[in-house]
Amino acid sequence: MNIAIIAHDKKKELMVQFCIAYCGILSRHNLCATGTTGKLVSEATGLNIQKYLSGSQGGDEQISARISCNEIDLLLYFRDPITPQPNEANLLRLCDVHNIPVATNIATAEALIHSLEHGDLDWRNIVNPKRI
Ligand code: PGA
Repeated sequence: MNIAIIAHDKKKELMVQFCIAYCGILSRHNLCATGTTGKLVSEATGLNIQKYLSGSQGGDEQISARISCNEIDLLLYFRDPITPQPNEANLLRLCDVHNIPVATNIATAEALIHSLEHGDLDWRNIVNPKRI
């Protein structure tokens, strides 16, 4: 599965801790992230992550484009609820348009990562065989 990772500045440390905790599961998937998030997570975990531009430089849009092309199966998006970012609404809208499971907080992320591990997200390959 292709997993995209984005964390706003106030949530980056939480994302790093999450990825350390679930490093074993994440390592079995293709990971991509916005620039700074990807750098911090890969440094902390050793995970191989395709890094896009920093969010402020267009990294969010690069991941949005991949979602639009049905190239992302799961989005881990730890956003700062106190400081909304400009592209946030569109990113979430695209997840709804394309039926992409998206976690905006660690509780949902944990539920989704366990679903992923148990194969509960494999229906996406059945619905759209291009994903396999
Ligand atoms: P970043 O981008 O990982 O490059 O900081 C995420 C964001 O939009 O804050």
